Amino acid sequence: MIKTNFDVTFRKKDSFTDILGQKNTKQQVKSALLMDRHVIVVGPPGVGKTTLARNVAKLLPEITVNDCEFHCDPKNPVCPRCLSKKASKTKKIRGEERFIRIQGSPDLNVEDLLGDIDPIKALKFGPLSIEAFAPGKIFRANNGILFFDEVNRCPEKLQNALLQVLQEGTATIGSYSVDLPANFIFIGTMNPEDTSTERLSDVFVDRFDVVNMGYPETLNIEKEIVASKGKKIDVTFPDNLLNLAVLFVRILRENKDLEKKPSVRASIGLYERAQANAFLDNRKTVNADDIANAIISVLMHRIELKPSVKYLQSNEEFLQKELRQFVQEHEEFEKGGGR
Ligand SMILES: [Zn+2]
Repeated sequence: MIKTNFDVTFRKKDSFTDILGQKNTKQQVKSALLMDRHVIVVGPPGVGKTTLARNVAKLLPEITVNDCEFHCDPKNPVCPRCLSKKASKTKKIRGEERFIRIQGSPDLNVEDLLGDIDPIKALKFGPLSIEAFAPGKIFRANNGILFFDEVNRCPEKLQNALLQVLQEGTATIGSYSVDLPANFIFIGTMNPEDTSTERLSDVFVDRFDVVNMGYPETLNIEKEIVASKGKKIDVTFPDNLLNLAVLFVRILRENKDLEKKPSVRASIGLYERAQANAFLDNRKTVNADDIANAIISVLMHRIELKPSVKYLQSNEEFLQKELRQFVQEHEEFEKGGGR
């Protein structure tokens, strides 16, 4: 078990201050982690899954570890270097330094993740010696958080290896079984809209609690995110127009013709690019045209049409049509723009 103080920090009114909204998700994550359960956060890209996991790390207390790559507990070292050396220097690390991110991909192999036997050292020390073992990425999460992004993009073989580590604390590398007492909190993610991925096996998912994380719950929350994450230049963005820019993206997410929906990054993109358009036109205030002129470049590649409609229109045509309809339905968009 790793050293946390979740029993104290999680009872604060809002522990995850880096994420706006997402009350239910935060509650579920806290409840699972408090009981040392492994979590998979399921949600579309750009909703803040990484930020949430980093926020969990920030809440971890400062600890003293050996001055090695694997943050070994001085009393209970796990890496070959610390195990073979009698004494090691120690250092203090803050919560946010106790965070390791691994990107799930079909190319990730078991050796990257778990480690490998170093053939030269194996000759010297013997193949089963701890000195011959070159630890993989997973070890760097020792005494911290292992954030495994898009875990469902990994080959099944790797899922099984990961499972073995989480379950038994051992790993099989080649024909050797290596004790892997790495100690970490596992937070994985999955994108439900990603269809190009491996199915997670039942045995695998049985080891986790799943927490859903969706798009920002309300327009106001999304506006707040946009204003806090987006780049701001010396141009005024009228509030009613920002409402409409974000609303346009939010309406697209509800569109039944879309297979891939625009993320919060799309809203941020419109916010930034509309300001830039006004600036380049030597104006101090954003107008509706500035937003309209950013739509194609910001959104075209961020959406995907369902196969049933894909062959009838391009993404660009689809967006033009949606924009025309949006303008008709939102008079103030037209007026506000002084077209
Ligand atoms: Zn070590």
